[in-house]
Amino acid sequence: MAEPMMRQVISRIAGQSWLRKAVVSTPGIREVAWRFVAGEDLAAGIAVLRSLNARGIKGTLNYIGTHVKDEAEAVAAATAAIEALRCVHAEGLDANLSVKLTQIGLDIDEAFCRAQLRRILECAAKTGNFVRIDMEESRYVESTLRILEDMLDVYGADTVGIVLQSYLRQRKSDLERMLARGSSIRLVKGGYWESSDIVYRRKVDIDNAFHQDLKVLLPKGRYPAIATHDARFLVQARRIADEAGMDPRTFEFQLLYGVRPDLQTELIRDGYNVRCYVPYGGNWYAYLLGCVRRIPGGIFRRVSEWIRPVS
Ligand SMILES: Cc1cc2nc3c(=O)[nH]c(=O)nc-3n(C[C@H](O)[C@H](O)[C@H](O)COP(=O)(O)OP(=O)(O)OC[C@H]3O[C@@H](n4cnc5c(N)ncnc54)[C@H](O)[C@@H]3O)c2cc1C
Repeated sequence: MAEPMMRQVISRIAGQSWLRKAVVSTPGIREVAWRFVAGEDLAAGIAVLRSLNARGIKGTLNYIGTHVKDEAEAVAAATAAIEALRCVHAEGLDANLSVKLTQIGLDIDEAFCRAQLRRILECAAKTGNFVRIDMEESRYVESTLRILEDMLDVYGADTVGIVLQSYLRQRKSDLERMLARGSSIRLVKGGYWESSDIVYRRKVDIDNAFHQDLKVLLPKGRYPAIATHDARFLVQARRIADEAGMDPRTFEFQLLYGVRPDLQTELIRDGYNVRCYVPYGGNWYAYLLGCVRRIPGGIFRRVSEWIRPVS
């Protein structure tokens, strides 16, 4: 099946509430889900953070949700983020928070979204923690960066940071722009299905763009975060950092919870900082389907890798 058609099928599946009910209550599927999602509530997220921290791995908690259209739901999502920050602080865990602006109202009204973000950042500042704003579809990039810049002015780069996506064709200057602002940057290849005039779609082009950005970000960035499961880029990043004489404690690698735990262990063993993105919440079904739908290229390979028995 052609990939765009496959994505449409997955979108349709995601919209069927009867199917969702059947799937979320099926034990086998729930077991697979808990390999990639901490669980349905904050307590599950905290339990995963504890076990990661015990292995020397840091965490970034994410309360699953996106494209919220209802004000009360957006306020509740911001409140959940605040609870997560308080709990991480109370438990003394080594973890920060990742948040999506469309979950806290960017689709409703920008001023409303900013107000919700400020609530979260006030709590982060009080608890001495850090919030990273995830990057979403290309239509949100400019507003997300503007909001980040304004929040940096108020809360500073120790409290809030951003994600940049290398696959965007027209936004090469964002990296220098964010470096100039002193923002902490998580570099990713980019995770959404977009048209080929907006993003690179061929793996080779995405990889080249990611490589170029890595070379710029690593030596210049403020505690840069390299988020990839691509083992070749872990090697490249390590080489670039070595050649620039960087102390391994001045940057970190980030991976998704449940994906390539072997690489996480290897990086920790070699003395690098590793942070796991730990999603939790009742919307885990949407997160898993979103992962499958968003992965650019190689969808069948990925699905087969997920279901491959762990050796
Ligand atoms: C911590 C973290 C935060 C992220 N935040 C954002 C964000 O804010 N915005 C955004 O657009 N994107 C985000 N992404 C997603 C990112 O943009 C990529 O889509 C995703 O990481 C896949 O690209 P890759 O670099 O891992 O390399 P790929 O070349 O896509 O994959 C390399 C190998 O990694 C494995 N792999 C990759 N992804 C998965 C997966 N989901 N499940 C199982 N195996 C997998 C496969 O073995 C694959 O062969 C994030 C990724 C991570 C790790």
